[in-house]
Amino acid sequence: MTNSIELSGISKSYGGLTALGKLDLTIKRNEILTLLGPSGCGKTTLMRIIAGFEEPTTGRVVIDGKDATRLAPEHRPVNMVFQKYALFPHLDVFDNVAFGLRLKKTAKDVIKREVTRVLELVQLESYKSRWISELSGGQAQRVALARALVNRPAVLLLDEPLAALDLKIRHHMLNEIKRIHEETSTTFVYVTHDQDEAMILSDRVVLLNKGGIEQIGGPEEMYWSPRTLFAAKFFGDTNIVNGTYGQGSVELPFGRYSHAAKSEVGAGPVNVSIRPETLTLAPAQGYLGEGEFLGKVKDTSFIGNRVIYRVAVAGDTIDLKCQQLPTPGSHTLTPGTQVAMRCKPESFVVLPV
Ligand code: ATP
Repeated sequence: MTNSIELSGISKSYGGLTALGKLDLTIKRNEILTLLGPSGCGKTTLMRIIAGFEEPTTGRVVIDGKDATRLAPEHRPVNMVFQKYALFPHLDVFDNVAFGLRLKKTAKDVIKREVTRVLELVQLESYKSRWISELSGGQAQRVALARALVNRPAVLLLDEPLAALDLKIRHHMLNEIKRIHEETSTTFVYVTHDQDEAMILSDRVVLLNKGGIEQIGGPEEMYWSPRTLFAAKFFGDTNIVNGTYGQGSVELPFGRYSHAAKSEVGAGPVNVSIRPETLTLAPAQGYLGEGEFLGKVKDTSFIGNRVIYRVAVAGDTIDLKCQQLPTPGSHTLTPGTQVAMRCKPESFVVLPV
């Protein structure tokens, strides 16, 4: 069996509000799948339906080949890690992790072996006697992970588990989660509204929009081949330029480029997504080379590992954001500088209006 979860025809309404439209989604065994989307798009609702905390209005939830639609959460092979760690402050680390096994009346020696196994997995073996209040946020979240993994769930659901942590710890924890995933044979379903987290972590990303699935794909596919304007804008930074498409080329305010549209667009008005890092610029020399067009730097931001320019082009009718890699000793161009710009039409994504 290669599928871990099969959702078919799932919808959820709260009174007159449709939190999820009818959606189908298959989650493969042992993948890390991220549910990504803006606030209110239905991520948590979908997660809670998988966990069994919420009953779908329509549709079927199959977990590990068995119909789980009407199963109570504790009878599903699923465990959940929340944003707020939900740990017991009056118990130490060991007892927090052991709690569920004790409820199930597991034998003492098995509890000791299993808790030790997961504390080693999250690298907190030497913290087993600490109180929860004596842990950092990252350590507390690792205890929460251990507590979920001690049950050996087939599916681990993680609902914005890093949202309460600061940026540096978040990056470290993402790598920890990846390592822990590799060492367990468990399917991870991860909810976030942070596209960086989704890209770093995921085998596949499900982008949700207003209760429906906008696009599903691997991180690189989502970044370079968005199928809609919403997906192009949600994933990373991009310039959206109005153009006209026809006969294998696209007419933009600063040039005409031959381009085979990958998405389904007909002849006529289109949106073109141009990633800032695919544009290059250099001080204008008084003439333009082939394929170049003129711009004027409006503002610059030096961010250490990159410089971001906003450049007015096409007679100051539009601004393009342009990202360059600085080299030591190179100078950031100042506002007002006339520049010759170049784009890579092969990286354009032509989208319906
Ligand atoms: P966030 O990132 O802000 O957590 P989300 O994508 O997880 O958002 P959900 O929490 O799934 O979104 O909510 C989807 C929609 O359903 C929202 O419009 C929300 O207000 C509504 N909703 C969620 N739970 C309930 C509820 N118990 N009763 C009524 N409406 C609800």
